[in-house]
Amino acid sequence: MNQCERCESKEANVHFSMEETSMFICNDCYNEIIEEEFEVNIEEIAKSFSIRDFQGVEHTFHVERRIHPNGIFMEAAESIEFGYRFAVHGELDCSQQELLTKLIMKARRGTGVRQVETKAFPNGQAYNSIVTDQITGLIEYDETSDSTPLVIIDGNPFTWEEVGKMLMTYEGFQLKLKTYDPTDDVE
Ligand SMILES: [Zn+2]
Repeated sequence: MNQCERCESKEANVHFSMEETSMFICNDCYNEIIEEEFEVNIEEIAKSFSIRDFQGVEHTFHVERRIHPNGIFMEAAESIEFGYRFAVHGELDCSQQELLTKLIMKARRGTGVRQVETKAFPNGQAYNSIVTDQITGLIEYDETSDSTPLVIIDGNPFTWEEVGKMLMTYEGFQLKLKTYDPTDDVE
């Protein structure tokens, strides 16, 4: 663990530089500095929340808030690797409580619908199929491949090859591939 150079107690995860200062600090210290610099109040908000997904399985999300000169970034991520992750962005003077509510609603929408289901061929071999002709996911680094990414769908990682296999039932169809910022709403 890299210790925060400011409070010397928490884990450092932000590189902060302003004028001649450059420090590796924790998220709380970062927020404190920005709070003073931009006169933003850090509202007391929940640090985690839990929701049930489309099949009733409970997921716990940890909330991280980061204040930037151009606004507030708030992210909810599961503590597991390649789980669900959602983010929203608000103005510096927005209600952070409302921003959190927006984030929870986004997580609820995102976990409420099944996108990929596993079916079985008559011979028992399993295959994945796209439920509604559309998938929304997160692009992540695949450490087992240097040429293709992982795509996180329904809170589960799929290799690029697995995604390709799911598309094989759509031979002859058109495909639209568009990327979005993590804080955008994907229609
Ligand atoms: Zn600190």
